[in-house]
Amino acid sequence: MGLADLHLHTIYSYDGTASLAAVLSRAKQVGLDVIAITDHDEIAGALKAMELASAYGVELIPGIEITTADGDLLAFFITEKVDAGLSLIETVLRVRELGGVCIAPHPMAGGMGMKSLSGCAILNALRNPQVAETLIGIEVYNATALDKISNHYARILASGLDIAHVGNSDAHVVDAIGLGASEFEGNTAADLLIALKNKTTKVRKQYEWSMFKIMGSWALNYIGSVFIRLGLAAQ
Ligand SMILES: [Zn+2]
Repeated sequence: MGLADLHLHTIYSYDGTASLAAVLSRAKQVGLDVIAITDHDEIAGALKAMELASAYGVELIPGIEITTADGDLLAFFITEKVDAGLSLIETVLRVRELGGVCIAPHPMAGGMGMKSLSGCAILNALRNPQVAETLIGIEVYNATALDKISNHYARILASGLDIAHVGNSDAHVVDAIGLGASEFEGNTAADLLIALKNKTTKVRKQYEWSMFKIMGSWALNYIGSVFIRLGLAAQ
C-alpha cells in the first residue's frame, strides 16, 4: 500500500509557510510515498520541487489549486499554469488538454474567504463526459478544513457518485503534512493515478486539528516564513 497527500501549500502560495525542502523532508518523515504541491494559482514551487524530490525519497506530482469562477479546483500532472477565473467546466477541460486530471477539494467548505465548489456545480460539471473523465476525485477528508461539517457533506456527495474518494491535509504549515492522506495499491505516482481512475483509493485520517490549532500554527509559521520569502525574493 502506498500513501499520498495531494494537497500541500508552500511559500510559493500567498498563504503557505513552508519551504520546498521542509515539505519534502516532512513528507518522507511521515511516510508519504507520493505528494503533490498545489499552491494557489501558482506552479513555480511545484516545478522546482520536481527537481528536488528524488533526493528526499518521495515522488512528487506537479499540481496547482486553481481559483475557478465556481470555487477551488485541484489539478495534477500538469506543468503549466491554468488561468484563474474560468468556469469549473472550462477549467477542467483546459486541464484535460494539458494531459492532467482534477480533484474537487473541500467541496461546500467555507471560512477565511475560501471559495469552495458547491455540490450543484460538481454534479452539473460531471454531466459533461469529458469532464467526468478528468475530474476523477472528490476530497472527502480535508484534515485542516476550518468547518469540520464540510467533510461530512463531501462524503455524502461522493458516496452518490462513481468517483474516487480522496483524503488530503491541505497543509499550509509543515506539521500538518500527512494529517489527511489516501492509501492506494502500489507506491508510485503512476500506481496512484490508476487507483484514482479505478476509484480504489482509501482515505487515511490522522487526528483532526481544532480551528484554534490550525489558525495559531498558521500565524506563527507565517511570521517565520516572512524571512524565507525575503530570501526567495532576493534570489
Ligand atoms: Zn488548498
